[in-house]
Amino acid sequence: MPLSQQKFPVMFQSELQSALSAVRQAAIVCRTVQSAITPASLEKKDKSPVTIADFASQALVCRQLQADFPEDPVIGEEGAAELRDGEADFLERIVASVEKAGVTASGEQVCDWIDRGGLHEYRSRFWTLDPIDGTKGFLRKEQYAISLALIVDGEIKLGVLGCPNLAVTEGSDSIGVLAWAIEGQKAWMQPLDKPDSDPVPLNVTQTATTPEARFCESVESGHSAHGWSGKIAAQLGITNEPYRIDSQCKYLAVARGDADIYLRLPTRKGYQEKIWDHAGGVIVVQEAGGQVTDIHGKVLNFKQGSTLALNQGVIVSNGRFHDTVVAAVKDHAPDDIA
Ligand code: AMP
Ligand code: MG
Repeated sequence: MPLSQQKFPVMFQSELQSALSAVRQAAIVCRTVQSAITPASLEKKDKSPVTIADFASQALVCRQLQADFPEDPVIGEEGAAELRDGEADFLERIVASVEKAGVTASGEQVCDWIDRGGLHEYRSRFWTLDPIDGTKGFLRKEQYAISLALIVDGEIKLGVLGCPNLAVTEGSDSIGVLAWAIEGQKAWMQPLDKPDSDPVPLNVTQTATTPEARFCESVESGHSAHGWSGKIAAQLGITNEPYRIDSQCKYLAVARGDADIYLRLPTRKGYQEKIWDHAGGVIVVQEAGGQVTDIHGKVLNFKQGSTLALNQGVIVSNGRFHDTVVAAVKDHAPDDIA
């Protein structure tokens, strides 16, 4: 069913259309920049491709939000201070990337759009944006996501995940997914390149006991403790190998049933999860029927500014055995962390 014909209440429909179009545009730029990464640039550990795509993506999304919702502030990952003070050549490369998405702008305009994402404090209504979530995956030419969410009175009202490298269904050759959810209106996806195609509803698995479960976690052991998750899996009788994948694609993996659990286990005490690393994914999972808490089983609190300061780590499940997973996480928590 085309989006325009869905029998949804109108709540947040215009915000959704704006967010979908912004994320699609950002995805074009990210794909173009990623396709130019070469083994030589990787060997030099040249991070400029990801930096350029990061800034260009944030500029494009904030430009769209400014045009459609000029009153709404944005808590984004990037700020333009270093661009304004940095080399003109670098800013020109970002301007050129933005142009690839069909937007002509001056360097000054691009910096202004990026800085619209510079809010850090909580507001009663704001957007949060990760212009490229999973930068390590982006550089490896693997998975990454563009994540955008709208938060009103601390509740996530809508989320959009652009996953330019994710297969439309696991294992298929068709690449690029756009997923979204509005509170109370279910979760959906469609191929990134087919904006007119019928949205497909997302549903978590029906897996009822943990031994059958498959869990996903970060590729980067610095972002989520792999040793800890191994012990949890053993206790829960999980024999499937972990599904390691970068970015909020993990939330989508649970939402559409590629996995049953997503574990994000702190690697050090005091790390505060960033809201842009979660908000878009959380509502997609919840609207697909899943459950999200922190490692103590607490609801995530999005009223603390740019971080989840009142939470530690994240546990996502299909909702069938959430408490069992939380208990196993606690049983194996390192003394110095939780
Ligand atoms: P992932 O793709 O799941 O590895 O997560 C990528 C995100 O991890 C980045 O956007 C960072 O904001 C975040 N990150 C960076 N350092 C840490 C850390 N020590 N613990 C958890 N997340 C982190
Ligand atoms: Mg991120």
